[in-house]
Amino acid sequence: MLGLMQNWPLLISKVIDHAASQFGNQEIVSRLVEGTIHRETYQTMRGRALQLAKSLTVSGIKNGDRIATLAWNTHRHLELWYGITGLGAIYHTVNPRLFDDQIIYIINHAEDRLLFLDLTFVPLVERIAPKLTTIERFVILTDAAHMPQTTLKNAIAYEDYIAQSDSDFVWAVFDENTAAGLCYTSGTTGNPKGVLYSHRSNVLHAMAHVAPDFFNISSHDSVMPVVPLFHANSWSLGFSAPMVGARLVMPGAKLDGPSLHELLENERVTMTAAVPTVWLALLDHLNRTQGKLTTLKRVAIGGSACPRAMTEAFEKHYGVTVAHAWGMTEMSPLGSFCSIKPDLAGLDDDALYSLKMKQGFPAFTVEMKITDDKGTPLPHDGKTFGRLKVRGPAVARHYYGYENENMLDDAGFFDTGDVATIDPHGYMHITDRSKDVIKSGGEWISSIKLENLAIAHPCVAEAAVIGVAHPKWDERPLLIIVRKKDAVLERDEILHFFEGKIAKWWMPDDVVFIDEIPHTATGKIQKTALRDMFANHRLPRA
Ligand code: AMP
Repeated sequence: MLGLMQNWPLLISKVIDHAASQFGNQEIVSRLVEGTIHRETYQTMRGRALQLAKSLTVSGIKNGDRIATLAWNTHRHLELWYGITGLGAIYHTVNPRLFDDQIIYIINHAEDRLLFLDLTFVPLVERIAPKLTTIERFVILTDAAHMPQTTLKNAIAYEDYIAQSDSDFVWAVFDENTAAGLCYTSGTTGNPKGVLYSHRSNVLHAMAHVAPDFFNISSHDSVMPVVPLFHANSWSLGFSAPMVGARLVMPGAKLDGPSLHELLENERVTMTAAVPTVWLALLDHLNRTQGKLTTLKRVAIGGSACPRAMTEAFEKHYGVTVAHAWGMTEMSPLGSFCSIKPDLAGLDDDALYSLKMKQGFPAFTVEMKITDDKGTPLPHDGKTFGRLKVRGPAVARHYYGYENENMLDDAGFFDTGDVATIDPHGYMHITDRSKDVIKSGGEWISSIKLENLAIAHPCVAEAAVIGVAHPKWDERPLLIIVRKKDAVLERDEILHFFEGKIAKWWMPDDVVFIDEIPHTATGKIQKTALRDMFANHRLPRA
């Protein structure tokens, strides 16, 4: 027997409708690429998204068509999400930090029809345009006054493009499982793979993650998504903030410490989210300028492991609570948050910060397990490492264009490629990517644990640990360090710093100092590049 309730499809248009009707005057503040600060309300945003949807329809865009965006976090990029999905088409966020060849590959693979781009990316797109085989028109996210001279086909300013239509448009209604967004991930081997979100998955994911143990946001918050809309849905903040009527502060292209600090303070931001490298730059700036964070209450940090020193700096020096978050593009992207369950309240300082190093527990809609290589479940004892597997209604079941390839186990779990422990309280702790874990004499050494320790040394700006071939042990850890500006630090001092904090056999066999650690397009340490750089490195005692 079916229930007798109304069948109301979970469509993204409902999110912006709700924001506009209940929080119509709430602001969206954007630092524009043109240099100015723009302010509009949810009501205005909804009207402009409707104008966009109508203009797209005039351009012949229909349900299921893919529209690419190469853009920073601004009101225009968010309007695109709502305008495109409101007619049943699909936003395809392209990460501009990828190599040209990868950008060409994914736009052609997605068969995008239009490309909306920020002014910053005009030179990039002019360079690759001859190889984009399906793009019919380029729309530049600016107004006529700032429109550059360009060779791009049929290029038009976004403000002119939407001004062709009024907002007299009705959102299309369709099955909630209809595709809404596309984001390619290069986390797997081979070509980047597309993760195709649905309206239902995006809405459920946002609903699950606004809850108090997770983003904990409401209409009383000013939320600044520093994590880009082009990186894994900006951790859903483009949906979850409007859903609860939170004020949005969009930082545009300037993600350096001084620019972020200025926005955090001037716009009275209460909650923000980004990868650790962004916060390293902010903390460094605050440290140098004796800056304060007078309104910020919470920061979500994820994308790569958040070092303990960073959590302690935010919490103890600036009074900002850190939620360590974990997830991946394939998971929409949030998988877990580290907030403190009631049975763990009252931990002493050391135990609390050890707990906060963990990536936390999942929200409703995510289930997790760890298994050995054969798929046998492993105990949740906080010690045993295994392959981390997840399932849920906002977890991918196929990659776009690979619908014939099964990527789930028999129980419907997706192998994240991460290695983790889960403790008896349900807290998951990533110990490595399965391909980065250092295999020494048949045992595993967690590169993340060693990196977090190194970063706690006051002279270390950034650290990475990779496995280097060893004739006897197979692999041994090599510690790679970027010193803080003007800091004096040598090999023996950092190794001495590790003593007593790790098992003796985890001690790095060697330390090298370099000027810069390479990062991937999503801000993670690029271990493959480091492994290439140090492929011939000879360890002292090998
Ligand atoms: P992406 O799909 O680009 O977001 O990358 C997802 C991967 O980033 C995960 O599978 C993890 O390896 C890594 N990751 C994300 N968050 C964390 C975190 N808090 N700690 C450690 N690794 C993380």
